[in-house]
Amino acid sequence: RSAGRIGGINPDNGGVVDAKNLKVKLVLLGDSGVGKSCIVLRFVRGQFDPTSKVTVGASFLSQTIALQDSSTVKFEIWDTAGQERYAALAPLYYRGAAVAVVVYDITSPESFSKAQYWVKELQKHGSPDIVMALVGNKADLHERREVPAQDGIDYAEKNGMFFIETSAKTADNINQLFEEIAKRLPRPSPS
Ligand code: GDP
Repeated sequence: RSAGRIGGINPDNGGVVDAKNLKVKLVLLGDSGVGKSCIVLRFVRGQFDPTSKVTVGASFLSQTIALQDSSTVKFEIWDTAGQERYAALAPLYYRGAAVAVVVYDITSPESFSKAQYWVKELQKHGSPDIVMALVGNKADLHERREVPAQDGIDYAEKNGMFFIETSAKTADNINQLFEEIAKRLPRPSPS
């Protein structure tokens, strides 16, 4: 792969490798306990381990996916790692993020409200062309559901976001989440 020219993508937005291969910074936001770490572990390692807490801290995990047209996207995934307690640092955390994944728990209306708070923050401080996904996680707990899927759909639509319900536990829709994000990324035009 070449160092790559910068096409339609803001270089501060996570970086372009070349027209077919992107590298993007992805940040996860949402209440503590909604399953952010489990989503990342499921996506990166294919596991669900409720006992192991990934403490990403200042570093990140990365995962590359290939799309059907043989292009690739490398996600550099930043977990919030306690950032709820340091809200003032949040703008530093999502600076340069091409993608924001805002997660709530479908059994927790409080976490859905908090997700809406994060969306507003991103609208204020995030990059204008950021790709945002709204994720209702723990979809396997449907018998305890308190946030109707339609509420997520409506909110996402109003805010120009992509919406999906996932389960890190059963792996339902986890790969689809990242594939859909990859498809929505602005791409440089081939030179
Ligand atoms: P974080 O604080 O947002 O990173 O949340 P974690 O990833 O640490 O998950 C918090 C708790 O929710 C853990 O006990 C997980 O086992 C549980 N959890 C995460 N995802 C799911 C899911 O999809 N379904 C169920 N039933 N539990 C989940």
